[in-house]
Amino acid sequence: MDFNDTPEEAEFRKEARAFLEKHLKLKDGAGGRHRSSDDFLKRAKAWQKTKAEGGFAQITWPKEWGGRGGTAMQQVIWNQEEAKFDAPVGPFAIGLGMCVPTVIAFGSDEHKKRYVEKALRGEEIWCQLFSEPAAGSDVAGVKTRAIKDGDEWVINGQKVWTTGAHFSDYGILLTRTDPKAPKHKGLTMFIVDMHQKGVEAKPIHQASGGREFNEVYFTDVRIPDSDRLGEVGAGWKVALVTLMNERLAVGGSPGPDWKEIMDYARGTGSLTDQAFREKLADWYVAAQGYNLTKFRTQTALSRGETPGPENSIGKIITANQLQDICNSAIEMQDHFGIMTDSETMPSNALFQQSFMWAPGLRIAGGTDEILKNIIAERVLGLPQDVRVDKDVPFESLKQG
Ligand SMILES: Cc1cc2nc3c(=O)[nH]c(=O)nc-3n(C[C@H](O)[C@H](O)[C@H](O)COP(=O)(O)OP(=O)(O)OC[C@H]3O[C@@H](n4cnc5c(N)ncnc54)[C@H](O)[C@@H]3O)c2cc1C
Repeated sequence: MDFNDTPEEAEFRKEARAFLEKHLKLKDGAGGRHRSSDDFLKRAKAWQKTKAEGGFAQITWPKEWGGRGGTAMQQVIWNQEEAKFDAPVGPFAIGLGMCVPTVIAFGSDEHKKRYVEKALRGEEIWCQLFSEPAAGSDVAGVKTRAIKDGDEWVINGQKVWTTGAHFSDYGILLTRTDPKAPKHKGLTMFIVDMHQKGVEAKPIHQASGGREFNEVYFTDVRIPDSDRLGEVGAGWKVALVTLMNERLAVGGSPGPDWKEIMDYARGTGSLTDQAFREKLADWYVAAQGYNLTKFRTQTALSRGETPGPENSIGKIITANQLQDICNSAIEMQDHFGIMTDSETMPSNALFQQSFMWAPGLRIAGGTDEILKNIIAERVLGLPQDVRVDKDVPFESLKQG
């Protein structure tokens, strides 16, 4: 394990940093995280275009698609540096991190020509239409039906928790095409135009005040067979590529950490409180442990290797810690802690906003329990979770 940049990596970091300094302001540690406003979206699109023009959007993608043709380690370095700035990122994370890589892996040359560069330049936004009311952790349980009609498929059903569906142009859609096959075998994936007739996205109003994800209804939506990704019935294989990219993309959790609560506590006098000091020490130790784990992942990337399932550790630690840190800061504010107004509360109500966002982080991209199962089975080599429905036709499974 080598914690230092190689000379080439240090050079790239310098170049990335200079580009960021030219275009953005450093984070001031304050501000909520309402990322769905029109203004935020406009800024995010402009920043994505600037990054693409500077050669910093999707660093590992080939130059022919507008990428840089760089290394995975350069992408990590860019992410580390960009995170220090007030960069309006977010609306493109799912599209560029998960959906478009799936299109690249399974789409035709026409698909790649049509979609990849436009997504990279921030001109089109993508969403991931997998989860349904009865298919989340067990996403192979999707019921949204796709029935073949000539050269088209007719889609009916409902998705839920679809991040950004209300401002997305395209989505990747997991459907059931063969209910007689076992659940993992009767699925097919499509590209869907989110502006077409029969697609209705209804934003869900969150506790934090934001509206970032949606229920999405499909009523007699027609998709040409040419917009199918992968073979008919092989949707699970396609979905696994998306989910693998998701697990790689979901690492740390943005929000206040032990340093920010320590600074805040210094101002309130709580730093002398023994119980708080013990918590602070625990957060610090967990954060250092996670940093070292991240170095392991980075070292693998730096050597051109693919990080393993141990990457799942990051979100369990950081999302839980975020919730705990924000809870403590809110308690420190006593009765005022319930106020969420960013203009009157300390740190622009960052602790309150992040507190309401943290439970979502513990669910998105794999719940705590699912990630623990992955670590148990694939890192520690423990026996598999019980899977009684594996070879049973989907239509014979108890539904509810
Ligand atoms: C902020 C956010 C953004 C999201 N964005 C998207 C998106 O863009 N597109 C999309 O398709 N989905 C999205 N989702 C949905 C997300 O993928 C699901 O919420 C998640 O997979 C959990 O599914 P569920 O909510 O149906 O919970 P369930 O799967 O019903 O889980 C309920 C509880 O049971 C536990 N559980 C389930 N199975 C097991 C098991 N085998 N062992 C032990 N415990 C188990 C879970 O850990 C959880 O505590 C998003 C969710 C959130 C919170």
